[in-house]
Amino acid sequence: MTVGPLWRKLRSWIGESELLSRERMGKDSRFGVMAADTIPDRWVQTVCGYCSVGCGMYVGVKKGEAVAVKGDPKYPVNEGKLCPKGLSEHHTLRAPSRARAPILRGADGKPHPIGWDDALDLFLGRVRSLQSRYGSAAFAVLSTGQLVTEEFYALGKLVRLGMRVPDFDGNTTLCMASAVAGYKRSFGSDGPPGSYLDFETSDVILLVGANIYDNHPILTHRLAKNPKKTVIVVDPRASKTALLADLHLPIRPRSDLALFNGLAYILLREGWIDRRYVSEHVDGFDALREHLAAYPPERVSEITGLTPELIMRVARLYAEAKRPLIAWTMGVNHSDQGTETVNAINNLALLTGNVGKEGASPFSITGQCNAMGTREAGFTSSLPGYRAYDDPVSRNELARLWGIGPEELPAARGRAYPDIINAVIDGRVKGLWIIGTNPIASFPNLANTEDALSRLEFLVVQDGFYPTPTAERAHLFLPAAIWGEKEGTFTNSERRVGRVRAAVPPVAGCRTDFDIILDLARRAGWADRLFPGWTTPEDAFNEWARVSRGRLCDYSGMNYGRLDREGSIQWPCPDHDRPGDERLYSSGEFPTATGRAKLWCVDWAELPEEPRPEFPFILNTGRTVEHWHTRTKTREVEILETLSPEAWVEVNPRDAARLRIRDRQRITLRSQRGSVSGIPARITETVAPGQVFVPFHFFETNANALTLNTFDPLSREPNYKQCAVRIEPV
Ligand code: SF4
Repeated sequence: MTVGPLWRKLRSWIGESELLSRERMGKDSRFGVMAADTIPDRWVQTVCGYCSVGCGMYVGVKKGEAVAVKGDPKYPVNEGKLCPKGLSEHHTLRAPSRARAPILRGADGKPHPIGWDDALDLFLGRVRSLQSRYGSAAFAVLSTGQLVTEEFYALGKLVRLGMRVPDFDGNTTLCMASAVAGYKRSFGSDGPPGSYLDFETSDVILLVGANIYDNHPILTHRLAKNPKKTVIVVDPRASKTALLADLHLPIRPRSDLALFNGLAYILLREGWIDRRYVSEHVDGFDALREHLAAYPPERVSEITGLTPELIMRVARLYAEAKRPLIAWTMGVNHSDQGTETVNAINNLALLTGNVGKEGASPFSITGQCNAMGTREAGFTSSLPGYRAYDDPVSRNELARLWGIGPEELPAARGRAYPDIINAVIDGRVKGLWIIGTNPIASFPNLANTEDALSRLEFLVVQDGFYPTPTAERAHLFLPAAIWGEKEGTFTNSERRVGRVRAAVPPVAGCRTDFDIILDLARRAGWADRLFPGWTTPEDAFNEWARVSRGRLCDYSGMNYGRLDREGSIQWPCPDHDRPGDERLYSSGEFPTATGRAKLWCVDWAELPEEPRPEFPFILNTGRTVEHWHTRTKTREVEILETLSPEAWVEVNPRDAARLRIRDRQRITLRSQRGSVSGIPARITETVAPGQVFVPFHFFETNANALTLNTFDPLSREPNYKQCAVRIEPV
């Protein structure tokens, strides 16, 4: 389906954004307090705390309170633009639901405020008790992509070297794990090779399962700066991003892997590949050629619902482009075939030699503001610095840097997020520390998650807000500072490290995650070993920069002074004199044992839950621009709640007519696992017949009551995007 470009609409949106940041600031109290007595007396430079675009901004402060936000015109990511969430972010800081004291659930089952000393001593005592009775694996930790890198680095050391907890993961597994696993398999390491500049310099941009208009809004601004591009959007839904495309491919749900195999088939058949690049830098060519024989355009057409002519047209556009970019987000990752789909994308880039070139790369756009920081410096999918758990050379090097024996380092990653939840259900994990995430709203199959949390002997939740659907179930709650109150760094999707600054002190009664981690280590007697001489996040950054030296994600040329002077720096940055603008893999060298990348033979498979007569619709889930994740923050911002106050269900007009559903009529969605009632229907052609779409932000009408707990076998990322449901009128 060819869709006329709607750039005028996009420009008008960007114009509105600019208008908001430059003119309405000062007039509309919902976007930054604009009465004369609240004009900021100073502006604090920082980076947005929502998404991985990582926009630079200033927070306006008046008499110690954050009263406004404006875009940083010199920041290379956003050049002064901000989306509605960024523009109103200061309103989250003093929201009524900010947590202000540790809370202990008493014998009466009710929450009672307690002091910090009691809370932290009780925390350590309960963890010791669980571990002594059931073993160290009886306690597990789930973190987030919202902390600063310094906190991830410290948390990893505390959890894995201090508490000796083997199972430590985060909500980034619900988001980017398939991109991580796919990169590791194809290129030998995690690390996105793309840069946002590619959106401006590529001539063909293939956006796969990436509704950037809603999810990464400022990237549409970067696209709009590119006068010569052809934008192809692969998405079963006619999202706002699809409406901006030159070509929209409305594929059947989760058939993208077959599409990429089919495109690779055509590239090979037509000889549209870079034979020299493949022979010099890539393994697995002969096996892939044989494997792709099963993906001729006719079969791919049957699987995807696209015509063979359209598939051929896309293959030609990609092959003839000088700088083709493939960028993807959750439409690819939120699948039980996510990792293999990433490999099929990487295959295309490798066959054509389009890796690590300006404008041309396979580029996974991350989700959270600092998902990258946890991937690089945390202890989740790898040891800090993308070191493999099972690589003795890397382990020895890391142990030497930390002054510990290599046997003290874990030899394997712990359970991933879904397997931690399963281990809670089967009784192997008895205690859980959840930091900055909200699984009751965000983890698939709500009934299963509720069951898991109800079985815990000890649930600690650490968050900036109370109550949340997860926090109100905690035995112990620790109130944490949030964006705007903390110092550190975030790393965005394009590997750009930006300085995060405290505009205001933490709300009275709460502490930064960094201080909580250090205080726990001090009380447990681990501080000298784990955090020698540390008092500030800068101490953690300096150690992390040393630990990253020589690794792909090399931060060793950075320090706070340089970041403060230059604003932001991309890794790899191995030298204080180098700008940090290098791309990954430009030389064709890859961090594998052979130095060569690998082509993977991957096969499309049927959906894990196909529609059937009792549940005839495929449910797709996604986001809207006004909200962030489970709305813990954005529901506190009046303008965002006003613009988007509740969930909705998109239903195709033909289905609506057949079921006699009117626009805005409230309906029930039911799957085999649960139901959601009272969501208004939007009768719209954005979804194909047989499909429905629901945004997942609204825990009041929780889309995860419906979703499947089926996971990618390689990355353990959930298959959030497809399950079978039926519609019932209310
Ligand atoms: Fe913040 Fe992302 Fe919006 Fe930029 S695009 S202002 S980083 S939420």
